[in-house]
Amino acid sequence: MSRSSLRTKRLIEADKKYIWHPFTQMKEWNESTPLIIESAEGNYIIDTDGNRYLDATSSLWVTVHGHRVKEIDNAIKKQLGRIAHSTLLGLGNVTSIELAERLVEIAPKNLTRLFYSDNGSTAVEVALKLSYQYWYQNGQHGKKRFISFTGAYHGDTFGSMSVGEVGVFVDKFHPLLFKSLYAPYAYCYRCPVEKSYPTCKIACLDKLEEVLKEHNNEVAAVVIEPLVQGAAGMITAPDGFLKGVARLAKKYGVHLIADEVAVGFGRTGEMFACDTEKVRPDFLCLAKGITGGYMPMAVTLTTEKVYKKFLGRYEEFNAFFHGHTYTGNPLAAAAALANLGLFKKRNTMDRVKKSAAVLAKLLTPFSELAHAGDVRQRGLMVGIELVKDKSIKSQFDPADRVGHKVCMDTREHGVIIRPIGNTIIIMPPFSIKTAELKKIVQTVFESIKRITE
Ligand SMILES: *Cc1c(COP(=O)(O)O)cnc(C)c1O
Repeated sequence: MSRSSLRTKRLIEADKKYIWHPFTQMKEWNESTPLIIESAEGNYIIDTDGNRYLDATSSLWVTVHGHRVKEIDNAIKKQLGRIAHSTLLGLGNVTSIELAERLVEIAPKNLTRLFYSDNGSTAVEVALKLSYQYWYQNGQHGKKRFISFTGAYHGDTFGSMSVGEVGVFVDKFHPLLFKSLYAPYAYCYRCPVEKSYPTCKIACLDKLEEVLKEHNNEVAAVVIEPLVQGAAGMITAPDGFLKGVARLAKKYGVHLIADEVAVGFGRTGEMFACDTEKVRPDFLCLAKGITGGYMPMAVTLTTEKVYKKFLGRYEEFNAFFHGHTYTGNPLAAAAALANLGLFKKRNTMDRVKKSAAVLAKLLTPFSELAHAGDVRQRGLMVGIELVKDKSIKSQFDPADRVGHKVCMDTREHGVIIRPIGNTIIIMPPFSIKTAELKKIVQTVFESIKRITE
């Protein structure tokens, strides 16, 4: 890959001079030669020197039908000919209404009301606030805590961080966060109750039940990433775990908040992860894939029962006093409508299931790799956990930057992926072709071998 043009050099210099990148040690960034992306075509992204890379992370879990999709491009252009933005504060707008109708149609049947925001963190923040305020207005002022799971990631605002559990994201902020309760997620490779599936009968759920039994009077909701914990490293829960969590939430009279920001819109093989186990959450948080990877937008769906608890006379002040400037943005809603329209037109869910089966087959040789401890997959979400010694599942030293090195190596071979620590993530767009999947998996395989063996 040549990255030598004067223009690229100038852009890199300016990037390093001004931009602070997310989740990034900027010293390391400043010593690197970053890629500067300028355009895209289908499943490829293209840098300023014309090098093409397969987008095997879906541009961080958002791209659905690939890049520069004619139908979505046109929907946005058409909307630009009408209006780019109008507020939902005191006004309605056409595309946000049409999108709300579509979302309620496809969401779990009990979810009939929808609140717009603009990113995953705020979608979760809204669910937390609605849940708490619901109980408050129900006269249950004591229900003000949340239960979440080990390894949970729900975003980077203070509320969403407070229900998060990934150390590097939240540890330093602990004194500023509200205190949540935690139960173990079903991380089978490193089982929290030291059993194995399926003989365990999902015994880790007992821990959740213990917490609920002791604290349900002070708990508003259980917050979960259904089926797959993304940021924890694509931890795939076994069948029945989600259903079990939903059953316990109901049994102990607390809300269930399903954070489907990452898994929603088809990633796990069903439109929503909750559909897989026929779970009906009280809140469903959606973002990332909603606009097909085009624009920021998020929604929090909830039930009629929750909605009604906020109705009353103005001066009772029972309304939900919350909102964001770009709430219900018409351009983003137009993109989302076009994105959803394509699911039907392109038979996207069939395609996801087929690609997931192909991917599973392609991943089988990974068990031969000396350092691939666990290879996890659900739909088109894959995590390959690299370990120093497979027999004892020991971790690599963070200073070795093994995951990072693997991803830098695949990049030199035309495939963009991102690690989470030493877990290698593969999450292709649904438009990925079989030949492209092969190229991605083969490149990742060879890079892991080159870097770790
Ligand atoms: C990415 C993510 C979020 C946060 O979304 P942002 O748009 O980055 O704020 C929340 N929950 C889950 C499960 C996510 O994967």
